Amino acid sequence: MLFSRACSLSNYLRCMPKLLHSFSRPAMNLADVISSLNEFASLSLAESWDNVGLLVEPSPPHTVSNLFLTNDLTERVMEEAVSQKADLILSYHPPIFKALTRVTWKTWKERIVIAALENRIAVYSPHTAYDALPNGVNDWLAKSLGECITVPLHPAAAVSVSGKVSHRVEFVVEQNLETILSGLKSIQEISYKTYSVVSDGKNCTRVSLNCTQRALIELVNFLSKEGVLQHGTDIISLQQPPLPNSGMGRLCTLTEKASLAIVINRIKNHLRLPYLRLALGVGKTLDRQVKVAAICAGSGASVLRGVPADLYLTGEMSHHDILDANAQGISIILCDHSNTERGFLEVLKESLTERFNKQIKVLVSQADCDPLKVV
Ligand SMILES: [Zn+2]
Repeated sequence: MLFSRACSLSNYLRCMPKLLHSFSRPAMNLADVISSLNEFASLSLAESWDNVGLLVEPSPPHTVSNLFLTNDLTERVMEEAVSQKADLILSYHPPIFKALTRVTWKTWKERIVIAALENRIAVYSPHTAYDALPNGVNDWLAKSLGECITVPLHPAAAVSVSGKVSHRVEFVVEQNLETILSGLKSIQEISYKTYSVVSDGKNCTRVSLNCTQRALIELVNFLSKEGVLQHGTDIISLQQPPLPNSGMGRLCTLTEKASLAIVINRIKNHLRLPYLRLALGVGKTLDRQVKVAAICAGSGASVLRGVPADLYLTGEMSHHDILDANAQGISIILCDHSNTERGFLEVLKESLTERFNKQIKVLVSQADCDPLKVV
Protein backbone atom coordinates (compact mmCIF):
# COMPACT_ATOMS: atom_id res chain seq x y z
CA MET A 1 0.00 0.00 0.00
CA LEU A 2 2.79 2.41 0.91
CA PHE A 3 3.26 4.98 -1.83
CA SER A 4 2.09 2.71 -4.62
CA ARG A 5 1.56 4.40 -7.99
CA ALA A 6 -2.13 4.83 -7.29
CA CYS A 7 -1.74 6.00 -3.69
CA SER A 8 0.04 9.32 -3.29
CA LEU A 9 1.13 10.63 0.11
CA SER A 10 -2.03 12.72 0.38
CA ASN A 11 -4.20 9.75 -0.52
CA TYR A 12 -2.27 7.59 1.89
CA LEU A 13 -2.87 10.02 4.74
CA ARG A 14 -6.55 10.12 3.83
CA CYS A 15 -6.64 6.30 3.79
CA MET A 16 -4.82 6.01 7.13
CA PRO A 17 -7.82 5.97 9.49
CA LYS A 18 -9.48 3.29 7.38
CA LEU A 19 -6.28 1.24 7.10
CA LEU A 20 -5.68 1.37 10.86
CA HIS A 21 -9.30 0.42 11.37
CA SER A 22 -8.90 -2.53 9.00
CA PHE A 23 -5.68 -3.74 10.61
CA SER A 24 -7.41 -3.98 13.98
CA ARG A 25 -10.02 -6.49 12.77
CA PRO A 26 -9.99 -9.78 10.87
CA ALA A 27 -9.97 -9.17 7.14
CA MET A 28 -9.52 -10.93 3.82
CA ASN A 29 -7.80 -9.88 0.64
CA LEU A 30 -10.25 -8.55 -1.93
CA ALA A 31 -9.05 -11.08 -4.52
CA ASP A 32 -9.80 -13.97 -2.13
CA VAL A 33 -13.25 -12.57 -1.32
CA ILE A 34 -14.09 -12.14 -5.01
CA SER A 35 -12.90 -15.61 -5.87
CA SER A 36 -15.02 -17.02 -3.02
CA LEU A 37 -18.07 -15.04 -4.22
CA ASN A 38 -17.52 -16.39 -7.74
CA GLU A 39 -17.44 -19.91 -6.32
CA PHE A 40 -20.64 -19.26 -4.34
CA ALA A 41 -22.41 -18.31 -7.59
CA SER A 42 -20.59 -18.81 -10.87
CA LEU A 43 -20.83 -15.70 -13.02
CA SER A 44 -21.33 -18.01 -15.99
CA LEU A 45 -24.93 -18.36 -14.72
CA ALA A 46 -25.58 -14.70 -15.56
CA GLU A 47 -27.35 -13.70 -18.76
CA SER A 48 -25.07 -12.77 -21.67
CA TRP A 49 -26.35 -9.15 -21.72
CA ASP A 50 -25.60 -8.62 -18.05
CA ASN A 51 -22.68 -6.77 -16.44
CA VAL A 52 -21.61 -8.85 -13.44
CA GLY A 53 -18.54 -9.38 -11.27
CA LEU A 54 -16.08 -6.89 -9.78
CA LEU A 55 -17.07 -3.49 -11.19
CA VAL A 56 -15.00 -1.08 -9.08
CA GLU A 57 -11.60 -1.96 -7.63
CA PRO A 58 -9.50 0.31 -5.41
CA SER A 59 -5.74 0.11 -5.94
CA PRO A 60 -4.25 -3.06 -4.43
CA PRO A 61 -3.65 -4.23 -1.82
CA HIS A 62 -7.22 -3.96 -0.62
CA THR A 63 -8.56 -5.90 2.33
CA VAL A 64 -12.18 -6.51 3.25
CA SER A 65 -13.47 -6.42 6.82
CA ASN A 66 -16.95 -5.10 6.12
CA LEU A 67 -19.09 -6.45 3.29
CA PHE A 68 -22.16 -4.31 2.66
CA LEU A 69 -25.16 -5.81 0.84
CA THR A 70 -27.70 -3.80 -1.11
CA ASN A 71 -30.22 -4.39 -3.87
CA ASP A 72 -29.58 -1.01 -5.51
CA LEU A 73 -26.52 1.18 -5.02
CA THR A 74 -28.05 4.67 -4.92
CA GLU A 75 -26.18 7.71 -3.60
CA ARG A 76 -28.12 7.44 -0.35
CA VAL A 77 -27.03 3.82 0.03
CA MET A 78 -23.44 4.81 -0.81
CA GLU A 79 -23.51 7.39 2.02
CA GLU A 80 -24.68 4.65 4.38
CA ALA A 81 -21.96 2.27 3.12
CA VAL A 82 -19.30 4.94 3.80
CA SER A 83 -20.66 5.58 7.29
CA GLN A 84 -20.62 1.81 7.95
CA LYS A 85 -16.95 1.66 6.83
CA ALA A 86 -17.71 -0.77 4.02
CA ASP A 87 -14.68 -2.14 2.16
CA LEU A 88 -16.78 -3.98 -0.40
CA ILE A 89 -20.34 -3.37 -1.57
CA LEU A 90 -22.25 -6.26 -3.08
CA SER A 91 -24.95 -4.56 -5.13
CA TYR A 92 -27.41 -7.06 -6.61
CA HIS A 93 -28.20 -4.71 -9.53
CA PRO A 94 -25.02 -3.56 -11.30
CA PRO A 95 -24.56 0.18 -10.62
CA ILE A 96 -22.55 0.41 -13.85
CA PHE A 97 -24.37 -1.12 -16.79
CA LYS A 98 -23.87 0.97 -19.91
CA ALA A 99 -20.27 1.91 -20.66
CA LEU A 100 -19.10 5.07 -18.87
CA THR A 101 -17.29 7.41 -21.25
CA ARG A 102 -16.23 9.76 -18.45
CA VAL A 103 -16.16 9.87 -14.67
CA THR A 104 -17.24 13.36 -13.56
CA TRP A 105 -19.50 14.77 -10.87
CA LYS A 106 -22.29 15.29 -13.39
CA THR A 107 -24.43 12.13 -13.15
CA TRP A 108 -25.28 10.01 -10.13
CA LYS A 109 -23.73 6.84 -11.61
CA GLU A 110 -20.43 8.63 -12.12
CA ARG A 111 -20.59 10.06 -8.58
CA ILE A 112 -21.11 6.51 -7.24
CA VAL A 113 -17.85 5.41 -8.89
CA ILE A 114 -16.00 8.47 -7.56
CA ALA A 115 -17.35 7.95 -4.03
CA ALA A 116 -16.40 4.25 -4.13
CA LEU A 117 -12.81 4.92 -5.20
CA GLU A 118 -12.27 7.95 -2.92
CA ASN A 119 -13.45 5.91 0.06
CA ARG A 120 -11.58 2.77 -1.05
CA ILE A 121 -14.72 0.68 -1.46
CA ALA A 122 -14.84 -2.10 -4.05
CA VAL A 123 -18.14 -2.84 -5.81
CA TYR A 124 -19.28 -6.27 -6.95
CA SER A 125 -22.53 -7.22 -8.68
CA PRO A 126 -23.91 -10.77 -9.18
CA HIS A 127 -27.35 -9.81 -10.63
CA THR A 128 -28.75 -12.54 -12.91
CA ALA A 129 -26.22 -15.08 -11.59
CA TYR A 130 -28.18 -14.92 -8.29
CA ASP A 131 -31.49 -15.17 -10.19
CA ALA A 132 -30.38 -18.43 -11.81
CA LEU A 133 -28.66 -19.86 -8.73
CA PRO A 134 -30.24 -22.82 -6.89
CA ASN A 135 -31.61 -21.33 -3.64
CA GLY A 136 -31.04 -17.88 -5.12
CA VAL A 137 -33.38 -14.93 -5.60
CA ASN A 138 -36.09 -16.81 -7.53
CA ASP A 139 -36.15 -19.75 -5.13
CA TRP A 140 -36.45 -17.27 -2.26
CA LEU A 141 -39.41 -15.63 -4.07
CA ALA A 142 -41.00 -19.06 -4.73
CA LYS A 143 -41.18 -19.62 -0.97
CA SER A 144 -43.81 -16.86 -0.82
CA LEU A 145 -46.35 -19.18 -2.48
CA GLY A 146 -46.27 -21.83 0.24
CA GLU A 147 -44.93 -25.36 -0.04
CA CYS A 148 -44.27 -26.15 -3.68
CA ILE A 149 -42.06 -28.03 -6.13
CA THR A 150 -40.07 -25.66 -8.33
CA VAL A 151 -38.23 -26.07 -11.61
CA PRO A 152 -36.50 -23.36 -13.66
CA LEU A 153 -38.61 -21.95 -16.51
CA HIS A 154 -35.49 -21.52 -18.64
CA PRO A 155 -32.86 -24.01 -17.43
CA ALA A 156 -29.24 -22.88 -17.47
CA ALA A 157 -26.82 -25.04 -19.43
CA ALA A 158 -23.27 -25.81 -18.36
CA VAL A 159 -20.83 -23.47 -20.07
CA SER A 160 -18.73 -25.08 -22.77
CA VAL A 161 -15.09 -24.70 -21.85
CA SER A 162 -12.51 -23.73 -24.44
CA GLY A 163 -10.57 -26.86 -25.42
CA LYS A 164 -13.48 -29.18 -24.56
CA VAL A 165 -15.22 -31.40 -27.10
CA SER A 166 -17.88 -29.29 -28.82
CA HIS A 167 -18.82 -31.17 -32.03
CA ARG A 168 -19.40 -34.66 -33.41
CA VAL A 169 -18.63 -35.19 -37.09
CA GLU A 170 -19.76 -38.27 -39.04
CA PHE A 171 -18.97 -39.22 -42.62
CA VAL A 172 -18.58 -42.27 -44.88
CA VAL A 173 -15.30 -42.98 -46.69
CA GLU A 174 -15.51 -44.96 -49.92
CA GLN A 175 -11.85 -44.81 -50.96
CA ASN A 176 -8.42 -43.57 -49.79
CA LEU A 177 -9.23 -44.59 -46.22
CA GLU A 178 -5.55 -44.81 -45.20
CA THR A 179 -4.85 -41.26 -46.43
CA ILE A 180 -7.87 -39.87 -44.60
CA LEU A 181 -7.10 -41.65 -41.33
CA SER A 182 -3.48 -40.54 -41.50
CA GLY A 183 -4.68 -36.94 -42.08
CA LEU A 184 -7.03 -37.18 -39.08
CA LYS A 185 -4.16 -38.36 -36.88
CA SER A 186 -2.24 -35.17 -37.70
CA ILE A 187 -5.07 -32.96 -36.33
CA GLN A 188 -4.94 -32.30 -32.61
CA GLU A 189 -7.99 -32.30 -30.27
CA ILE A 190 -9.97 -34.97 -32.13
CA SER A 191 -10.73 -38.61 -31.38
CA TYR A 192 -12.46 -40.99 -33.76
CA LYS A 193 -13.85 -44.48 -34.24
CA THR A 194 -14.42 -46.35 -37.52
CA TYR A 195 -17.17 -48.80 -38.46
CA SER A 196 -17.54 -51.04 -41.51
CA VAL A 197 -20.78 -50.25 -43.35
CA VAL A 198 -22.39 -51.02 -46.69
CA SER A 199 -23.39 -47.95 -48.71
CA ASP A 200 -25.03 -48.23 -52.15
CA GLY A 201 -23.96 -51.90 -52.24
CA LYS A 202 -20.30 -51.01 -51.59
CA ASN A 203 -18.19 -51.84 -48.55
CA CYS A 204 -17.28 -48.51 -46.93
CA THR A 205 -16.03 -47.15 -43.62
CA ARG A 206 -18.06 -44.83 -41.43
CA VAL A 207 -15.96 -42.43 -39.34
CA SER A 208 -17.45 -40.92 -36.18
CA LEU A 209 -15.30 -38.35 -34.43
CA ASN A 210 -15.47 -35.84 -31.58
CA CYS A 211 -13.52 -32.60 -31.77
CA THR A 212 -13.08 -29.17 -30.24
CA GLN A 213 -14.20 -25.93 -31.87
CA ARG A 214 -10.59 -25.19 -32.83
CA ALA A 215 -10.06 -28.63 -34.41
CA LEU A 216 -13.36 -28.40 -36.32
CA ILE A 217 -12.06 -25.64 -38.59
CA GLU A 218 -8.91 -27.61 -39.46
CA LEU A 219 -10.97 -30.78 -39.92
CA VAL A 220 -13.50 -29.19 -42.29
CA ASN A 221 -10.65 -27.80 -44.42
CA PHE A 222 -9.05 -31.24 -44.57
CA LEU A 223 -12.28 -33.10 -45.43
CA SER A 224 -13.09 -30.52 -48.10
CA LYS A 225 -9.65 -30.95 -49.67
CA GLU A 226 -10.06 -34.75 -49.68
CA GLY A 227 -13.50 -34.48 -51.29
CA VAL A 228 -15.25 -36.13 -48.32
CA LEU A 229 -17.26 -33.09 -47.23
CA GLN A 230 -19.02 -32.94 -50.59
CA HIS A 231 -20.42 -36.49 -50.15
CA GLY A 232 -22.50 -35.82 -47.10
CA THR A 233 -21.00 -35.09 -43.72
CA ASP A 234 -23.01 -34.62 -40.53
CA ILE A 235 -21.66 -31.97 -38.15
CA ILE A 236 -23.50 -32.01 -34.84
CA SER A 237 -23.05 -29.29 -32.21
CA LEU A 238 -22.95 -31.00 -28.81
CA GLN A 239 -25.20 -29.37 -26.22
CA GLN A 240 -24.02 -28.92 -22.65
CA PRO A 241 -26.30 -30.65 -20.13
CA PRO A 242 -28.67 -28.38 -18.16
CA LEU A 243 -27.46 -27.49 -14.67
CA PRO A 244 -29.82 -28.89 -12.02
CA ASN A 245 -32.21 -26.36 -10.43
CA SER A 246 -30.49 -23.43 -12.19
CA GLY A 247 -31.91 -20.94 -14.64
CA MET A 248 -34.27 -18.03 -15.10
CA GLY A 249 -37.73 -17.94 -13.50
CA ARG A 250 -39.39 -20.82 -11.69
CA LEU A 251 -42.48 -22.93 -12.40
CA CYS A 252 -43.98 -23.69 -9.00
CA THR A 253 -46.46 -26.48 -8.40
CA LEU A 254 -48.11 -26.07 -5.02
CA THR A 255 -48.13 -29.22 -2.91
CA GLU A 256 -51.71 -28.34 -1.97
CA LYS A 257 -53.98 -26.07 -3.99
CA ALA A 258 -54.84 -22.79 -2.29
CA SER A 259 -57.26 -20.00 -3.15
CA LEU A 260 -55.84 -16.88 -4.76
CA ALA A 261 -56.85 -14.91 -1.64
CA ILE A 262 -54.74 -17.22 0.57
CA VAL A 263 -51.78 -17.06 -1.81
CA ILE A 264 -51.97 -13.24 -1.81
CA ASN A 265 -51.73 -13.20 2.00
CA ARG A 266 -48.77 -15.58 1.93
CA ILE A 267 -46.95 -13.35 -0.56
CA LYS A 268 -47.62 -10.22 1.51
CA ASN A 269 -46.23 -11.94 4.61
CA HIS A 270 -43.12 -13.30 2.89
CA LEU A 271 -42.31 -10.02 1.14
CA ARG A 272 -43.40 -7.95 4.15
CA LEU A 273 -45.66 -5.81 2.02
CA PRO A 274 -48.90 -4.16 3.16
CA TYR A 275 -50.17 -4.21 -0.40
CA LEU A 276 -49.59 -5.63 -3.86
CA ARG A 277 -51.35 -5.27 -7.21
CA LEU A 278 -53.59 -7.91 -8.70
CA ALA A 279 -54.86 -8.34 -12.26
CA LEU A 280 -57.43 -11.15 -12.24
CA GLY A 281 -57.45 -13.51 -15.20
CA VAL A 282 -60.60 -13.26 -17.32
CA GLY A 283 -63.43 -15.12 -15.56
CA LYS A 284 -61.37 -15.66 -12.38
CA THR A 285 -62.14 -14.61 -8.76
CA LEU A 286 -60.23 -14.48 -5.46
CA ASP A 287 -61.75 -17.88 -4.59
CA ARG A 288 -60.15 -19.51 -7.63
CA GLN A 289 -57.77 -22.31 -6.67
CA VAL A 290 -54.10 -21.88 -7.57
CA LYS A 291 -52.09 -25.01 -8.34
CA VAL A 292 -49.37 -23.79 -10.71
CA ALA A 293 -47.63 -20.41 -10.54
CA ALA A 294 -44.87 -19.05 -12.74
CA ILE A 295 -42.62 -16.54 -11.03
CA CYS A 296 -39.75 -14.25 -11.92
CA ALA A 297 -38.06 -11.77 -9.61
CA GLY A 298 -37.77 -8.22 -10.98
CA SER A 299 -39.22 -7.57 -14.41
CA GLY A 300 -40.66 -10.88 -15.52
CA ALA A 301 -42.58 -10.41 -18.77
CA SER A 302 -40.00 -11.88 -21.14
CA VAL A 303 -39.39 -14.89 -18.89
CA LEU A 304 -43.08 -15.57 -18.12
CA ARG A 305 -44.63 -14.87 -21.52
CA GLY A 306 -46.55 -17.88 -22.86
CA VAL A 307 -46.00 -20.08 -19.78
CA PRO A 308 -49.23 -21.94 -18.90
CA ALA A 309 -50.07 -21.28 -15.22
CA ASP A 310 -52.89 -20.17 -12.91
CA LEU A 311 -50.82 -17.24 -11.66
CA TYR A 312 -47.83 -15.09 -12.59
CA LEU A 313 -45.87 -13.44 -9.77
CA THR A 314 -43.27 -10.81 -10.61
CA GLY A 315 -42.21 -7.25 -9.81
CA GLU A 316 -43.41 -5.40 -12.88
CA MET A 317 -45.03 -6.05 -16.27
CA SER A 318 -46.25 -3.79 -19.04
CA HIS A 319 -49.95 -3.01 -19.42
CA HIS A 320 -50.16 -4.96 -22.68
CA ASP A 321 -48.36 -8.03 -21.32
CA ILE A 322 -50.84 -8.00 -18.42
CA LEU A 323 -53.82 -7.85 -20.79
CA ASP A 324 -52.43 -10.71 -22.90
CA ALA A 325 -51.93 -12.99 -19.89
CA ASN A 326 -55.29 -12.07 -18.33
CA ALA A 327 -57.04 -12.92 -21.61
CA GLN A 328 -55.61 -16.44 -21.26
CA GLY A 329 -57.20 -16.68 -17.79
CA ILE A 330 -53.89 -16.13 -15.97
CA SER A 331 -54.03 -13.87 -12.92
CA ILE A 332 -51.06 -11.61 -12.23
CA ILE A 333 -49.58 -10.31 -9.00
CA LEU A 334 -47.14 -7.40 -9.20
CA CYS A 335 -45.18 -6.26 -6.15
CA ASP A 336 -42.94 -3.58 -7.72
CA HIS A 337 -39.56 -4.51 -9.10
CA SER A 338 -37.12 -4.64 -6.22
CA ASN A 339 -39.67 -5.83 -3.63
CA THR A 340 -39.44 -9.23 -5.33
CA GLU A 341 -35.63 -9.28 -4.92
CA ARG A 342 -34.56 -7.40 -1.78
CA GLY A 343 -35.64 -9.97 0.83
CA PHE A 344 -33.05 -12.39 -0.51
CA LEU A 345 -30.31 -10.18 0.98
CA GLU A 346 -31.15 -11.44 4.49
CA VAL A 347 -30.73 -15.05 3.30
CA LEU A 348 -27.50 -14.03 1.56
CA LYS A 349 -26.20 -12.36 4.71
CA GLU A 350 -26.48 -15.65 6.62
CA SER A 351 -24.87 -17.65 3.79
CA LEU A 352 -21.93 -15.27 3.37
CA THR A 353 -21.32 -14.84 7.12
CA GLU A 354 -20.94 -18.60 7.32
CA ARG A 355 -18.91 -18.77 4.10
CA PHE A 356 -16.38 -16.20 5.30
CA ASN A 357 -16.21 -17.92 8.66
CA LYS A 358 -16.91 -14.65 10.48
CA GLN A 359 -13.64 -13.13 9.16
CA ILE A 360 -15.82 -10.58 7.42
CA LYS A 361 -18.72 -8.68 8.93
CA VAL A 362 -21.70 -8.80 6.56
CA LEU A 363 -24.22 -5.95 6.75
CA VAL A 364 -27.48 -5.32 4.90
CA SER A 365 -28.32 -1.74 3.88
CA GLN A 366 -31.14 -0.09 5.78
CA ALA A 367 -31.45 2.80 3.31
CA ASP A 368 -32.02 0.54 0.28
CA CYS A 369 -35.71 0.40 -0.67
CA ASP A 370 -38.01 0.30 -3.68
CA PRO A 371 -38.42 3.81 -5.09
CA LEU A 372 -42.20 3.37 -5.54
CA LYS A 373 -44.55 4.08 -2.63
CA VAL A 374 -48.33 4.08 -2.38
CA VAL A 375 -49.48 7.54 -1.23
ZN1 LIG B 1 -34.06 -6.53 -10.92
